[in-house]
Amino acid sequence: MSMNKNSSEMDTGRRHFLAAMGGVGMLIGFSGTAYAIRDDKVYIKSSGGALVVDLKKCMGCGTCMTTCSLVHHGKASLSLSCIQIEQDVFKPFPQDIQMSTCLQCHDAPCVTACPVNANKASEDFDFVRDIDPDKCIGCMQCIEACPHTPSRVQWNPTTRCAQKCDLCLNTPYMEEQGGIGGVQACRRVCPVGAIAFITELPEQSLPQNYVVNLRNENWAKSGKTIED
Ligand code: SF4
Ligand code: SF4
Repeated sequence: MSMNKNSSEMDTGRRHFLAAMGGVGMLIGFSGTAYAIRDDKVYIKSSGGALVVDLKKCMGCGTCMTTCSLVHHGKASLSLSCIQIEQDVFKPFPQDIQMSTCLQCHDAPCVTACPVNANKASEDFDFVRDIDPDKCIGCMQCIEACPHTPSRVQWNPTTRCAQKCDLCLNTPYMEEQGGIGGVQACRRVCPVGAIAFITELPEQSLPQNYVVNLRNENWAKSGKTIED
């Protein structure tokens, strides 16, 4: 699924799931977001955590996607999921699976693109990059700004706002506390443990740095290899 601007509700008939600061000059506060300014660039404080995935474990069941939309929106919709799983049956293992999660980028182009500071990294929430739907004006600039394909910011056609992974910070339909230090629903429900949470972000915001080996002895007991 590409930019998600034209996302439709779940198509159950398809198996293709629609799925640094060195040499800092100074720090300033800006509507709850801390920025460090160096030369002509703006840096945002790093998120306190992010999700990592194991492409060799994921079987494309989509449980994480439906759970994501359930805990955030109270309904099962693949289009409203912040984590997106795509499967291409014509590609060989493990290239047949793409797990698209927000990388919680150090420089977060989606945050800096937002003209009204609705897409933000708040000090109160460990600088998780998330979107305030009450502030969002639906300009889609953050969707365009995310450098990854598919964009890790989705368009919500119901609210007409952008949305993105908040590590389950704002989950009105989940009893447990989400966010950093809490539960991330996708990680909790994945039946094969293909998603994990880390607090030390990779050096660079490259998708391949967020692909890890989560296979353990239990995985080996099922007759599958645990080596990369
Ligand atoms: S769509 Fe909303 S969150 Fe994204 S840049 Fe526009 S106002 Fe900001
Ligand atoms: S939505 Fe995209 S640009 Fe924003 S933090 Fe996530 S991966 Fe980075």
